[in-house]
Amino acid sequence: MPLLFSPHRRAVLKLLASGVVAAAADACANTSVLCADEPAKPRSLIDCHLHINHFDRSIEDTIRHMDATGTAKAFVLPLETGEGGVLLRSETVLHAFHRYPDRIIPFCQTDIRQPDALERIKAYHLLGCRGIGEQKEHLPLNDKRVEAVIALCDELNWPITIHFQDGPGGFNQGLAEHLETYLKRYQRVRIIGHAQTFWANISAEVPPAEKSLYPTGPVKPGGLLDKLLADYPNLYCDMSAGSGFNALSRDEEFTIGFLQRHPRQMLFGSDCPCRDGAGENFKGTCYSTQLQKYLQRIIDDEDLLTNIFHSNAERALAGEA
Ligand SMILES: [Zn+2]
Ligand SMILES: [Zn+2]
Repeated sequence: MPLLFSPHRRAVLKLLASGVVAAAADACANTSVLCADEPAKPRSLIDCHLHINHFDRSIEDTIRHMDATGTAKAFVLPLETGEGGVLLRSETVLHAFHRYPDRIIPFCQTDIRQPDALERIKAYHLLGCRGIGEQKEHLPLNDKRVEAVIALCDELNWPITIHFQDGPGGFNQGLAEHLETYLKRYQRVRIIGHAQTFWANISAEVPPAEKSLYPTGPVKPGGLLDKLLADYPNLYCDMSAGSGFNALSRDEEFTIGFLQRHPRQMLFGSDCPCRDGAGENFKGTCYSTQLQKYLQRIIDDEDLLTNIFHSNAERALAGEA
């Protein structure tokens, strides 16, 4: 919090030159809702992956989704370049945070190909953002600009949510070759892995991306995720979307062991575009409701559920990896 009052704040506001953002900055300065010293509450659901204008969903409908799914708070992730089909600006997320400061945990994201990307991210840090994400641009994982934002998160003691999708037209391609390099080099940043290629690596057998991004059937033990999670406590798994649910439901017995081996690195998340918690506008499926029910059915350890639904998200934000 003291950073919000740093002498750089004025320069930051000038840089962004946005009334909405300035208002959000004042909200950040006045609220204590996200302070690390807030007393621990009983388990309440934190969704680590939510957008606002998914299928043109309004801020109000996003809150309605949270209410309907019993979600206390959510990491709300902008996607400024719209390369993945959703375009959500960091300013919009800060605006939503200003209106619902005890429900929304604002992340930021910028086009990292622009020369002012790192300056803008530092500005969003001062304005109350808590991490970067969703990092989803058509750049390979070993691109220097991707490394630069990971390095900045390391410096800021932030998490970063990365969409890993190999193959042509993918995002951050090359997880198997390059993710460990970053985990080794940057041990303070929490890297939150999301999407198809991340989850395909739950198994030691990963089909080429061109063949399948959603492999099904029994998991072959000894996958890259198990190894990296064991070696690097700053790696977290974002369980959201079809990719997370497919990987976690393809081999129930394996999943139970996987969750037990890495109880502090699993984050409940939905990435759900629906409005009512029942999939009204999404073919009757709500990713949040579906995953909550599944986890409650397969896990009988209350501590593990609390970690997945709540405590791990707090840890990923605070940096106690
Ligand atoms: Zn997403
Ligand atoms: Zn939903």
